[in-house]
Amino acid sequence: VKVTVSLAALAALACVSPTPAPEADANPGIGGFHVSRVVEQRALEGEFARIPDPAACESHLRRVTAEPHVAGTPANARVAEYIHAQFRAAGLSPEFAEYEVLLSYPERIEVELVAPARATLARAEDGFESLPPWHAYSPSCDLEAEVVYVNYARAEDFDALAEAGVDVRGRIVLARHFQGYRGGKALEAHRRGAAALLTYSDPADDGWAKGKVYPEGPWGPADKVQRGATVHDFLVPGDPLTPGWASTAGARRIDAAEAGPLPKIPSCPLAPRDASEILSRLGGAGAPPEWRGALPFAYHLGPGPARVRMRLEMTREIRTIRNVVARLEGGKFPEEIVLLTNHYDAWAHGAVDPGSGTAAMLEVARGLGALAKRGWRPRRSIVLVACDAEEFTLTGSTEWGEEHAESLSKGAIACLNVDSAACGPDFGATASPSLWGFVREVAGAVEDPATGKSVLEAWRARERAGGAASTLRYVAAGPAADEGPTVSVPGSGSDYTVFLNHLGIPIADLAFEGPYGVYHSVHDNFDWMARFGDPGFRYHAAAARLWGIAALRLAECDVPPLDLAAYVRVIERALPEGDARLEPVRASARALGDAAEKTNRRVRDLLVSPEWSEADGAGATQALLRAERAFCREEGLPDRPWFRHQIFAPLPSYVAETLPRIRRALRTGGDVEAEVARLAETLDAVRAALLTPPTAEEPSAPRRRS
Ligand SMILES: [Zn+2]
Repeated sequence: VKVTVSLAALAALACVSPTPAPEADANPGIGGFHVSRVVEQRALEGEFARIPDPAACESHLRRVTAEPHVAGTPANARVAEYIHAQFRAAGLSPEFAEYEVLLSYPERIEVELVAPARATLARAEDGFESLPPWHAYSPSCDLEAEVVYVNYARAEDFDALAEAGVDVRGRIVLARHFQGYRGGKALEAHRRGAAALLTYSDPADDGWAKGKVYPEGPWGPADKVQRGATVHDFLVPGDPLTPGWASTAGARRIDAAEAGPLPKIPSCPLAPRDASEILSRLGGAGAPPEWRGALPFAYHLGPGPARVRMRLEMTREIRTIRNVVARLEGGKFPEEIVLLTNHYDAWAHGAVDPGSGTAAMLEVARGLGALAKRGWRPRRSIVLVACDAEEFTLTGSTEWGEEHAESLSKGAIACLNVDSAACGPDFGATASPSLWGFVREVAGAVEDPATGKSVLEAWRARERAGGAASTLRYVAAGPAADEGPTVSVPGSGSDYTVFLNHLGIPIADLAFEGPYGVYHSVHDNFDWMARFGDPGFRYHAAAARLWGIAALRLAECDVPPLDLAAYVRVIERALPEGDARLEPVRASARALGDAAEKTNRRVRDLLVSPEWSEADGAGATQALLRAERAFCREEGLPDRPWFRHQIFAPLPSYVAETLPRIRRALRTGGDVEAEVARLAETLDAVRAALLTPPTAEEPSAPRRRS
């Protein structure tokens, strides 16, 4: 049972209720809305949905992708000015939120094959020599070593090498991208004693083995370089020098040497054409079949005889970044906040990542502004945050979240994040389980441009036809546990992280996906988007409609449609079977599940009751927010206290791990009983928050445990 009031649920209620709601038959319900307000809300959504416009999206995208705009550069400041101007033109009152943070840039990137032949490597895409391949925060170096091929540089890949007798210590390891975040690869390579890391995209993963390459198709050509950071933000994201507090002017900073997330070994990305200069010259044992990519030669593990010299001169320097923040003040509950986040900085032109999301956000702003201009005011506050420096280490969102931790803990309903809004027609979502039903319901309210059905129907049809999204998911997430269509549980890799993992705010991350082989390269540009990603820009506009309607529902509803029972099902499925030690946590989960179902029933009854009062809704809202916050514990996770959420945490791969503490204890032979007791206590606290009637003078205070 969900809080979400579906037509079927309303009809069922109407049968048993002595006073059936008069509009129940004529109007399908909307999750979280009293039946008496559904017509008015549908009208508001219809009015909003007319605004987002493909041509306007195209125009925004053309502007924000006009030049490469890495965070901390004048080009990125120009994008910020454009967003600010567009927010103003929409009738909003934007402000800049500035932070002084540690960023990193390349001064000199020289990577050369020195044996058994000579070749210049680390070349940029043809025609873009001023944008060298680089990994932000890589240490500088001048070193030369034999190369070992390490597949995806996962722990199991290094284990397999050790078993095969291949020593990576002191050597340069060459890893392919994907199957994990590059920062996790850098950390694993460091742990195994490698001297340095080179990464590349194998055409098997996102190049010609997938289909036609750009400019003939959407996949990655041989000169494509996937730039990025290798910082270990799964330990703590944000400015590495201010872990846990905001980098406002004059903030205390730790020494860079103490900053755990900064990578310890140098690294640099290569284009496939440069990686093949090395790979084709590796000897040693043949690579196992699943390690072989699509380059036209036999893959070997090495070490050598290929030797590479890496000379990297990298800066690490404090620069100013700026989020662009626009707040529509709520008329009834101004302290309650619906957050919309997207980043605008990019490794190059950033058409998909993140320009498509930025274009969609600007259309959401225009739609909300149009409603405001004719006198509408949201019941709750809606806050749009265009974040800077996401690509470095989720920096802009993390600093802003840390700065406003108190007010966000008190009042944030949810964070709706869109990073890459559109690179194809396939809708996909990642969300806190409590928002799964909500995400599906919103998808049901927006038309899919290609099929004319709802986005929900197109999504479900694709999944039934056996398809996950047709692209690699760069923000990798773990498996779901629900009736579908599948919403993933949150891992990391985008701006929602501080809100979920640090503050306990439920999140949803929305995107239309498709074949996309130019991620973080110069080829992720306007032309690629116009020809392959979203010709006609209809999915940009659809993303804006989805995003805006989701925001309008959370801002206007009587009780946020947060389904804690779905959360409990995910927790229960994550508990390994047949281990008696886990019984206390199962019992707490069952009790929480019962309480959540009871809450859902109570809310559903309220929402069709003629004796409905606004105070009922306010009370239920605060109980739900307190319950969400109670998934966080003040002491955080072992070795990474910034990550306070006890149910989800990203692995170094960015994949979500559910119940990270218990999993870790089981994996490492830790104190399982203590972890079970701790999690049971956390779930009991969530249940208590859900069941505690709020007092009038206590507006959704955060519940933290120490
Ligand atoms: Zn992005």
